[in-house]
Amino acid sequence: MPQIRTVAGTRDLFAADYATGSRVLVEAAQQARLRGYSGIVTPIFEYTEVFSRAVGEGTDVVDKEMYTFEDRGGRSLTLRPEATASVLRAYFEGGMNQGPQPVRLYYRGPMFRAERPQAGRYRQFFQHGVEAIGESAPGLDAEVIELAWSGLQSLGLEGVRLQVNSIGDAACRPAYRSLLQDHYRPHLGEMCEDCRRRFDINPLRLLDCKKPTCAPLQAGAPNPVDHLCEDCASHHRSLKEALVALDIPFTENPRLVRGLDYYTRTAFEFWHDDLKGSQNALGGGGRYDGLAQVLGFEATPGVGFSMGVDRIVLALQRSGLSAAPPGAAVAILPAAEGAAVQAMRLASDLRLSGHVTVVDHGSRSLKSRMRQAQKMGAAVVVILGETELSAGAAAVRDMAGGGQEEVQLGAVAQSVSAILERGAA
Ligand SMILES: [Zn+2]
Ligand SMILES: [Zn+2]
Repeated sequence: MPQIRTVAGTRDLFAADYATGSRVLVEAAQQARLRGYSGIVTPIFEYTEVFSRAVGEGTDVVDKEMYTFEDRGGRSLTLRPEATASVLRAYFEGGMNQGPQPVRLYYRGPMFRAERPQAGRYRQFFQHGVEAIGESAPGLDAEVIELAWSGLQSLGLEGVRLQVNSIGDAACRPAYRSLLQDHYRPHLGEMCEDCRRRFDINPLRLLDCKKPTCAPLQAGAPNPVDHLCEDCASHHRSLKEALVALDIPFTENPRLVRGLDYYTRTAFEFWHDDLKGSQNALGGGGRYDGLAQVLGFEATPGVGFSMGVDRIVLALQRSGLSAAPPGAAVAILPAAEGAAVQAMRLASDLRLSGHVTVVDHGSRSLKSRMRQAQKMGAAVVVILGETELSAGAAAVRDMAGGGQEEVQLGAVAQSVSAILERGAA
């Protein structure tokens, strides 16, 4: 029988990957909480229509990239490809639309896409993000951008570049869309198959096709920001003024677009220099004032972002900013009859002082257990042998300094702390 293993496009996260990802999430949650956002967990699977409406019927994502299946009752369910639609559903289902607005929420968790696995892209990937729902002021757009920016800054990640654009709204987009179609119409024959389909259903996406047949056609295409109505233009101006006031550098990127009608005004992405090509976005977001209606709820504005935790971890690793998994600071080796219980009591004391402490319950020789403690990176090893225990003491060994001394059991915690502090200094 072949050995069982992970499904292609999925992976296990452990050691430095886990520790680094965990640090990303801790910082992100801290930044969100500091701005009054509270956490939400939505189900990993939902009725398919939650996502098919949000992702857009007839798009590649719905047709090919969603994990959709029937449950035993014949209902169509889908593993979430993203969280915004779920969070918005929860906002209405949970009555959050009845309280003070906006409602500020943050989330984290795995998302799923059945796309072809390639470097840096997984079928199960991890995202964190926020949604601020129920308010249309541009200050809220600035708030979520500043939140995401602060999260990335707090990780020490350099080379992050914020790209900002406005894609208008229902008032100004139809005219802009016609202009765009006028620009591309003479070139329909040269365009890739995807773009020929996009021409009618979401022509804005023509602006970000990376294929060599299509990219050159973007020269001279009209930019959305040049065709905004007065309300959209004023919203965009206010956002940019806020970003300047908050000292957040940004680039206006007229090619940064969203394909679906419910996206309005602000669109943004965070790019990282070390991640090349179409994989260089750490995350992004924008305003989706039309989404609530698409999902069948009353019209409600919202803005948010989602960040790809796997990509951020990759960027951190390439920048030499990996977090180390927590090694044990102290290893206790019981090496006498009845010493195991004594060891566990001692471990509790040390943990109260905040020292990561493990007890080696193995039955191998003391020498081999010493070697293992060293491999685990323990700075201090405490040995509970026959001789020491009969004297009510333990041998405390400073692994870096090399010294070893006999310490009364009641004073072990103090002695260990002293060694660890010396090591940290
Ligand atoms: Zn194309
Ligand atoms: Zn407009």
